[in-house]
Amino acid sequence: MELCRSKTELRQLIAAWKREGLRIGFVPTMGALHEGHLSLMRAARQECDRIVVSIYVNPTQFDRKDDLDAYPHDPERDRDLLKTVSCDALFTINNEDMYPDDFSTWVIPEGSLVGGLCGKSRGSHFKGVTTIVTKLFNIVGAHKAFFGQKDYQQFAIIQRMVRDLDIPIEVASCPTVREADGLALSSRNQLLESTHRERSLAIAKSLAWATLSFRAGQKKASLILAEMVKRIEEAGAKVDYIEAVDCESLAPKETLDDQSVIAVAAFFGAVRLIDNHILKDDFPVQFP
Ligand code: AMP
Repeated sequence: MELCRSKTELRQLIAAWKREGLRIGFVPTMGALHEGHLSLMRAARQECDRIVVSIYVNPTQFDRKDDLDAYPHDPERDRDLLKTVSCDALFTINNEDMYPDDFSTWVIPEGSLVGGLCGKSRGSHFKGVTTIVTKLFNIVGAHKAFFGQKDYQQFAIIQRMVRDLDIPIEVASCPTVREADGLALSSRNQLLESTHRERSLAIAKSLAWATLSFRAGQKKASLILAEMVKRIEEAGAKVDYIEAVDCESLAPKETLDDQSVIAVAAFFGAVRLIDNHILKDDFPVQFP
């Protein structure tokens, strides 16, 4: 695995691969890697000749300094995990090189995709995401980039950005990987206190319950969402949002259908977890 610590180094490597006619797959991450990240790399491996992974904790997408400061790091373990999926190049970079002092150009998503969910509760989060993803796309120059469904709104915004700005890259969304008990994998899970770890299952359980209720005939979003709030609060969490939206436009839904996605964000202590499920799909874990 090549370790590239500068844009120039990475660009030279990619240019050489492209001269050989190789197809480049890209997986951007913030590190503290887990099976969710590795699943994206395996998907990239299926379709591409070379895989590039970036690990960069992007400060501009954090709306709370304590969240940025607490974000987990384990570079050695990350490198070991990358070898298990035969990653070809790891790109890391420091903040000074990514955002020079006089940095002044941003990519700002607008409209209905950013109006709700994390766009409402996390201020300029998506401006940070779209800016860093554009920069990474420009630096890497990959043919295809792979993202997780776990960050549902993030993928919708990136997909739209690629179309709107004519960025020459394909993007793909891959299924959410979960712990055996149902909790969606997240780098933040390791920050959960042990009592919260158990209780955090309320999120996945309530999504599974919502799916079953919908299948049993309940189409009224407000009733399902209210019950989900109750169940997640009973587990001791502070609900940030629970919304039902259309899976493409992300417009709020009053009447649920197969194209509805239910998205949740909730705090267990200081740790904010997100998860979602599209109602047309079976929930992948069954709860007693
Ligand atoms: P992050 O390091 O959290 O910024 O995530 C990097 C990429 O991994 C994003 O595309 C995420 O959507 C994806 N990802 C994070 N968690 C999961 C998961 N549990 N399953 C699938 N993809 C994930």
